[in-house]
Amino acid sequence: METSKTLIIGACGQIGSELTSKLRSLYGVDNVIASDINTKNENLVNSGPFEILDAKSYSDIKNCIEKHNIDTVYLMAAMLSATGEKYPELAWDLNTTSLFHVLNLAKEKYISKVFWPSSIAVFGPTTPKVDTPQHTVMEPTTVYGITKQVGERWCEYYSKNYGVDVRSIRYPGIISWKTLPGGGTTDYAVEIFHEAIKNKQYESFIDENTALPMMFMDDAVKATVDIMNVPEEDIKIKSSYNLAAVSFTPKQIADSIKKHIPEFEITYKPDFRQNIAITWPESIDDSVARLDWNWSHDFNIEKMTEVMLKGVASLETTV
Ligand code: NAD
Repeated sequence: METSKTLIIGACGQIGSELTSKLRSLYGVDNVIASDINTKNENLVNSGPFEILDAKSYSDIKNCIEKHNIDTVYLMAAMLSATGEKYPELAWDLNTTSLFHVLNLAKEKYISKVFWPSSIAVFGPTTPKVDTPQHTVMEPTTVYGITKQVGERWCEYYSKNYGVDVRSIRYPGIISWKTLPGGGTTDYAVEIFHEAIKNKQYESFIDENTALPMMFMDDAVKATVDIMNVPEEDIKIKSSYNLAAVSFTPKQIADSIKKHIPEFEITYKPDFRQNIAITWPESIDDSVARLDWNWSHDFNIEKMTEVMLKGVASLETTV
């Protein structure tokens, strides 16, 4: 029998690109098919099997699954929070249509396992802000948050009613240096490292003391690989797991950078993304994920800052 394979949809993006390379190192380059609607990430496109695919097209996804004997799908294509506020209907369409297609393909037994990421954006202004629990009030006010909340409900519904094996994590803001973020509210926490290396100053679009939950990319990828590898019966939460690593404000991350670049300066000019940030939690209680599938993070602010500065500096010297 031919080996079953994995498909990543939205593989050119911030998380998809690093997830693809991790899965390829674990399962073999030819067993992990990357796909995206465009070929903008050349490194990723040239790193192994790649297909152009529109996540809004059921037949595109189904044809790719059949062509490559795909067993597991990671659906990483989405429109993120800040861009979603500019194009609410497009965000709704992409984020919900693509999830429906993948869940239906699992229901129809074309694939046997699905990963779909949710976000801290499922929470809203009425949610407890500190140590936000797994089960709590969820009244998101962004279209992105609404698509993630409705997605979580559908994941649980397909699991309970059709036996679909779908696993999900509520990612916090993801910090990485290899690929730039794609239009989220937490993008400042990546931009700040690039500007610190290039210009030794940064104007933050998030206010000085607004804390948000964040996570270094390696931890996010580890969590994604781990949750997909535990036995199905250990996955007790069929909607999406809270996941946490660090929480910081722009001032705190600037202070951490200043330990390495003392002349670095930060100024603040909050824009519309500040209005999104203040509706989200400051910190997340992820004890259920830690209990159910042994989640633990490796990167604190200091370790993350060190790796980010080195990584971004290495990009600058290779340009
Ligand atoms: P990203 O914007 O960097 O990448 C998304 C990718 O999807 C892009 O490469 C884009 O070209 C592709 N795409 C867009 N429309 C498509 C379509 N119709 N068909 C196929 N591909 C399409 O996003 P990301 O940061 O890598 O996020 C991945 C997932 O994780 C998303 O579901 C996002 O909501 C979630 N998430 C991300 C963060 C974060 O901080 N990055 C936080 C919480 C949740």
